[in-house]
Amino acid sequence: MKIFSNFESGNIEVVSIENRDDIQLKIQNDNQSEFYQWFHFRLETQAEQSHTIKILDLAKSAYPEGWKGYDVVASYDREEWFRIPSEFDGDTLSFHVLPERGSMYFAYFAPYSYDRHLDLLHMAQTEHHCTLETLGHTLDNNDMSLLTFGEPEEGKKNIWVIARQHPGETMAEWFMEGLIQRLVDETDTTAQALLEKAVLYVVPNMNPDGANRGHLRTNAVGVNLNREWQSPSKEKSQRCSWYVRRCSKQASICS
Ligand SMILES: [Zn+2]
Repeated sequence: MKIFSNFESGNIEVVSIENRDDIQLKIQNDNQSEFYQWFHFRLETQAEQSHTIKILDLAKSAYPEGWKGYDVVASYDREEWFRIPSEFDGDTLSFHVLPERGSMYFAYFAPYSYDRHLDLLHMAQTEHHCTLETLGHTLDNNDMSLLTFGEPEEGKKNIWVIARQHPGETMAEWFMEGLIQRLVDETDTTAQALLEKAVLYVVPNMNPDGANRGHLRTNAVGVNLNREWQSPSKEKSQRCSWYVRRCSKQASICS
């Protein structure tokens, strides 16, 4: 029996793995931060045998309320994700699983990979009314990418849509994928009507560093970007917010 988290957005720590009816795990803190909640790991084991997995120490996690009524997300092929009924006793999340295959992934929410993020950006930019622009680079040297839909014109509104300042909220980028698919669909009359009245500035992932590192809430150096809009700095650590705020101040001129 082995547990792995050595992949993009992987996060787990093994406490005890001697007994398959009592596999004990912990979530690692975001780098330089006290926050933890996102997990993502792979179990390699014998199929068709029952396992009990416990994630410990959740009373001190970033949002303990979030574990109430929560069910773990799992996948055999990293494509289709399904829920596994889970129980939370106030500190430990437990679930039973009878793997159908020898290798199985588990995560807090369905992961949204960096590769899929790049696919999304480049699918969008093949449409004539969409442009892709790199606003700058993050501390981990990832691209801060902006998609602009429509041309600025007098009377048009500027609308900004950003997602995943908190990188563990992967559902936000799944939402972005749906939004962008509608914005590039020329038969979508609602989206077309919106684009006649507004230019949309879309940042599908505000925090690629945190996403790739398997963080819940912060960037590469433990900064919560959601708290940095007042006075983001480029040099220090909040440069994702800094780039986007500079760009939004210049309205449509992002260079
Ligand atoms: Zn959030």
